[in-house]
Amino acid sequence: MGAVPDRPFLQAVGNTPLIRLRSASEQTGCAIFGKAEFMNPGGSVKDRAAKYIVLDAFRRGVLREGGTIVEGTAGNTGIGLTLAGNALGLRTIIVMPETQAVEKRSMLRGMGAELRLVPAVPYKDPGNYVHQARRLAEELAGSAAGGVLYANQWDNLANREGHIASTGPEIWNQTEGRIDAFICAVGTGGTLSGVSEYLKQRRSSIVTAAADPDGAAVYSWVKHGELKASGSSITEGIGLGRVSGNLEGARIDDAFNVPDSEWLPVLWELIGKDGLYVGGSTGLNVAAAIRLARQLGPGHTIVTMLNDSARTYESKLFNREFLESRGLPPPPWLG
Ligand code: PMP
Repeated sequence: MGAVPDRPFLQAVGNTPLIRLRSASEQTGCAIFGKAEFMNPGGSVKDRAAKYIVLDAFRRGVLREGGTIVEGTAGNTGIGLTLAGNALGLRTIIVMPETQAVEKRSMLRGMGAELRLVPAVPYKDPGNYVHQARRLAEELAGSAAGGVLYANQWDNLANREGHIASTGPEIWNQTEGRIDAFICAVGTGGTLSGVSEYLKQRRSSIVTAAADPDGAAVYSWVKHGELKASGSSITEGIGLGRVSGNLEGARIDDAFNVPDSEWLPVLWELIGKDGLYVGGSTGLNVAAAIRLARQLGPGHTIVTMLNDSARTYESKLFNREFLESRGLPPPPWLG
């Protein structure tokens, strides 16, 4: 087992505030709280996965200073991994679909990632970014000094373990155990399965639920036991079409499918009325928490995740033409 170095990035991840969401709470008579993950050093919840995946690789002796991290990512995990890599003296290679918001590209390049953009093709296609990343890591494995880590956020259980070790206990302590339900969207499933696991260990009656955008299959998997998806969404970083290693065995009670037309107005309220400049998956999380609140009835405490900042998606979220071409409502304040 290798020694775990103590570095600034690692210290800055987690311990985020839990914020009472005024608009969502008032509408439902529930106390709806959001975990302010946009306050992590790389700006998203994925800093947690990055931290715990890299620490696990150091502990297992897979990585040492001078080593290389390779990952396929919609962006946020790549940002976390690159910063973790910088803090630990690692090279980071990120394979990303070219359809993701341009802001993430400039962030990744700005922080020193080696960025490889690839066409967006389905997971079953060998050209999919996830498979390209895995093959690249395999090719480099023999030659790179300091070891090569294929981070594999979907199937690497250090992702889920990180949420069991950090996010779950933080939510339990911040609510002083007075929590009735937890709901969030699924990208890899690490957040939902890890937090659910921890909370249910504390009290098994806590309701746990998935929030799915159109085009994702977790909703039908939870509700009917089969992976089925239809439609599409402008959300990024979420929407899983298979049962990842991190999702497998997750203790999830319920699921909600929330279309873009429903969560965008909720996002405009979060930004315009609550003053929280958060991204699309957060809009979806809060819209789903509102649905869950209506189902549970007034007086319940519900926690969800404020995954990242709107800053990462400005070219899409505040682009009237982009939204209107999809029949979606722009923010009311956009001239
Ligand atoms: N929201 C955003 C913006 C993300 O980037 C991700 C992860 N890709 C998630 C939510 C979902 O997190 P997880 O991978 O833990 O399911």
